Amino acid sequence: MQGAIMVKEKDIWGVADAPVDGYASEGEMDTSKLVANQNRKKKKSGGFQVMGLSHNVYRGIMKKGYKVPTPIQRKTIPVILERRDVVAMARTGSGKTACFLIPLFERLKMHMAKAGARALILSPTRELALQTLKFTRDIGKFTGLRAAVILGGDSIEGQFAAIHENPDIIIATPGRFVHVCVEMELKLTNIEYVVFDEADRLFEMGFSEQLREIMARLPDSRQTLLFSATLPKMLVEFARAGLVDPVLMRLDVESKLSENLRTTFFKVNMEDKLAVLLYLLRCIIKPKEQTVIFTATKHHVEYLHMILEKAGISSTYTYSSLDATARKINVAKFQSKKVQCMVVTDVAARGIDIPLLDNVINYNFPAKSKLFVHRVGRVARAGRCGVAYSLIAPDEYPYLLDLHLFLSKSIRYASQEPKEEEEEDWNHIYGRAPQTLIDSEMDQIRQWHETSVDVDTMKQTTINAYKQYVKSRPPASNESIRRMKDEPLEQLMGFHPLLLTETSKQEKERNSMLEALKKVRPKTVNQ
Ligand code: AMP
Repeated sequence: MQGAIMVKEKDIWGVADAPVDGYASEGEMDTSKLVANQNRKKKKSGGFQVMGLSHNVYRGIMKKGYKVPTPIQRKTIPVILERRDVVAMARTGSGKTACFLIPLFERLKMHMAKAGARALILSPTRELALQTLKFTRDIGKFTGLRAAVILGGDSIEGQFAAIHENPDIIIATPGRFVHVCVEMELKLTNIEYVVFDEADRLFEMGFSEQLREIMARLPDSRQTLLFSATLPKMLVEFARAGLVDPVLMRLDVESKLSENLRTTFFKVNMEDKLAVLLYLLRCIIKPKEQTVIFTATKHHVEYLHMILEKAGISSTYTYSSLDATARKINVAKFQSKKVQCMVVTDVAARGIDIPLLDNVINYNFPAKSKLFVHRVGRVARAGRCGVAYSLIAPDEYPYLLDLHLFLSKSIRYASQEPKEEEEEDWNHIYGRAPQTLIDSEMDQIRQWHETSVDVDTMKQTTINAYKQYVKSRPPASNESIRRMKDEPLEQLMGFHPLLLTETSKQEKERNSMLEALKKVRPKTVNQ
């Protein structure tokens, strides 16, 4: 008979071991798995809710503020839940930590004092181990599982004490862990889940000896996971020896963006966006190139078109409520290359075919990562190169973080000191717009407003429309909103290399001189 087959308690969460219509224990149906299996069949790409996670783990993920799984999470979590060994090529910033923590929580389920440690996570550095501990506490909050860290540099007595408290999870750097194992004659017989995090760095830092020693102490029945940005030969050999029939997961080969597309991001306040837009169109983008500018509302379309006219930059525009004939005429102007720019909203842009587009400017950043990919998919086609410039106001920064998770890329924050290599290769860089550049464009913009009531009224309309737009915009993930407040990187980053004009270089020098002066305190005179 197929279906209602009973499985042992320990198999409940091992999807691979349990029958599809499995019962968790006599009379108690494991509905979460049923739903997960049904959903998996129906949906190709789902959220965390279709992974069949237990309530306490799911709560932890929601509490942490993850809205949708990142691509690497979507790909690896179901396979790890099936208890397969996995080699995953993933970088920091791709959401890799949750990839191994979520299945770990599902497997260990709850604190078991008697069993001793059942999961081991090896990290190359203290910092990474401590960050993993934080994630373990955050996401695993409702499981009651206990974690301990064993790190070089900390007091060894404290670590002995931590082990005596029977943690379920040990997060360790390899050198100190081997030391503790030897000193305490630690048996690792109950470890059933092992993670080598940033495995390439573990080897680069010279831990290969310790890693082999740890491997030798672990039971053969364990599940082993290896996360690494690169896969050098040494690591392949290590995986071959220590992992059983591993599934290799690569994300780098399936980039969502064209290889010929360069993307770049500018941090700029909403009221200064126009200045940066004009600078890009005048000084960076060549007059012959064709550019589509995406905005949030039709009012922005009209306003930007007015301004571009005043600036002598040839443009046309389209939005969905524009009458059909006008739309056709306007689009034709752009298609026949009579004008350099076309200002659009997303809805209006759908279905317009522009085969040879050079640039996209996201004047307003899209709230959905898929929309970004869709917008920029219009450039760098058919072997041509292209650039996507995005202007990021502070309220749009969480969406930029979400986009990078979606693309499995980390943001390249412009360094504070201008670097030659960044000036040459600004692909994927996120940097600030210098105030001098904004001021120089603003003088002219202000004048247009003072001399035209229409322009001024239109601007006010865009401000009101933006407020409405923000209300209807889907929110970014809570974790990205939180990161916006916590991460200092954004505040510390330097000017965008593309916007570094001679005057802005002088501005930078002046700023650092002022900073230096602030630090010089007047000497107190002894009386
Ligand atoms: P990691 O690559 O694991 O270091 O994660 C990079 C950052 O992305 C961390 O701040 C995570 O909390 C965050 N993150 C990971 N997964 C998600 C997700 N699904 N949604 C939002 N943020 C996430």
